[in-house]
Amino acid sequence: MGSNQIRKQTGEVIFREHERSDCAYIIEKGRVEISVERGGEAVVLSELGPGEILGEMAVIDESRRSATATVMEDCELTVVTPQQIRPRISRADPVVRSLLNTLLTRYRSELLLEQGLSAEDDSALPHYSDGIGKIRFENELKLALDNEQLQIVYQPIRSLRRRTGFGFEALIRWDHAIRGTISPIGLISLAEETNLIAPLSRYVFRAAAEDLVEFKDAASDELFVSVNISPKDAVDSEFLNDAWDICVDAGCRPAEITLELTESIFVDIEQLSDWADTAKAMGFRISIDDFGSGYASLEYLACLAPHTVKIDQRLIRPIVDDTRYVTVIRKIIEMAGELEIMVIAEGVESSEHVRILTELGCDMAQGYEIGHPLSKFQVVELLVS
Ligand code: C2E
Ligand code: CA
Ligand code: CA
Repeated sequence: MGSNQIRKQTGEVIFREHERSDCAYIIEKGRVEISVERGGEAVVLSELGPGEILGEMAVIDESRRSATATVMEDCELTVVTPQQIRPRISRADPVVRSLLNTLLTRYRSELLLEQGLSAEDDSALPHYSDGIGKIRFENELKLALDNEQLQIVYQPIRSLRRRTGFGFEALIRWDHAIRGTISPIGLISLAEETNLIAPLSRYVFRAAAEDLVEFKDAASDELFVSVNISPKDAVDSEFLNDAWDICVDAGCRPAEITLELTESIFVDIEQLSDWADTAKAMGFRISIDDFGSGYASLEYLACLAPHTVKIDQRLIRPIVDDTRYVTVIRKIIEMAGELEIMVIAEGVESSEHVRILTELGCDMAQGYEIGHPLSKFQVVELLVS
């Protein structure tokens, strides 16, 4: 017998109603009776045999046992630990998870009602407002996407070497009628948890490509637009083909669009490197975002051979009063230079930042000192002037 298997003899109780749960069981041999107590008497709900699972409900939602399991015929049981079940549930689509929890809650309250109790009597009964809230939020986001109610703003990126040369980073905004402005971080993480990241990323990409064509008409110089790529897009085999089609439709060249990638523990670097190679072969430019804030930055530079690296705000902000940060930035710029990678500093918030970064030979800068995110119309005005 394996270490996760146990034997129980006829008449033994495997678990009792209302006990705290620590595992579920698969019956390999024997029979088990599931019963609940009603008015002092045991009422049999079911009898289970080989291949069936018991006790899984309490493990799923971490509540107390809703029934008693008694061995009717000598049993061999495989123990299923919460660690084998819960991570799978937490990785499941949140809507599926929420429906599962709703079903469990409903089943449990029916059991309690049959026992003459109300759901409120069971303090161990979990609440799922979070899951339900997510379903609502997800529906609203889907509607906002369908009705094109999400806005894109553009933050200027300016050359520190030349007087000309502009880029804009596309950033998503959701001005929600009731919730107010929703942070892109919350919005993106919700979209990533559900299947909405694919349409959302295409929405942003399409808007950026179409707006870029208008920006080019207004500008006298070359310019680029950069869009943020979610780790999910970087494992989506269709994303690049769709992005290409969008460029063709909009009338811009892939070389005018930079794809910003952040490090992610969820994407295998070799897979990401294949994706980046395909993107580069199609003509897109690749940028490593938030450089210096993650865990594998240096490998990203070597492996992905990006066109650009954006140094994270957390490393840039302190350079005005901490020379150790200046040293770190100088070394990053030196290294990027040898690798022929262009450097953009993020979070450039003062003229002192601009001065130091220019002295260090940084190529471009982005931040409130350079410009706050602007609407499409403001960008056109800026370019015309
Ligand atoms: P990010 O890509 O690092 O974008 C820069 C963020 O820093 C933006 O916040 C920008 O408004 C803010 N920022 C710019 N300059 C300064 C500055 O000088 N000081 C300070 N303190 N902050 C500055 P935002 O728009 O809230 O975006 C937050 C993050 O959300 C972005 O970080 C990006 O990771 C993500 N995001 C935004 N739009 C999209 C999108 O369309 N798709 C995806 N996948 N992610 C997006
Ligand atoms: Ca970015
Ligand atoms: Ca960034």
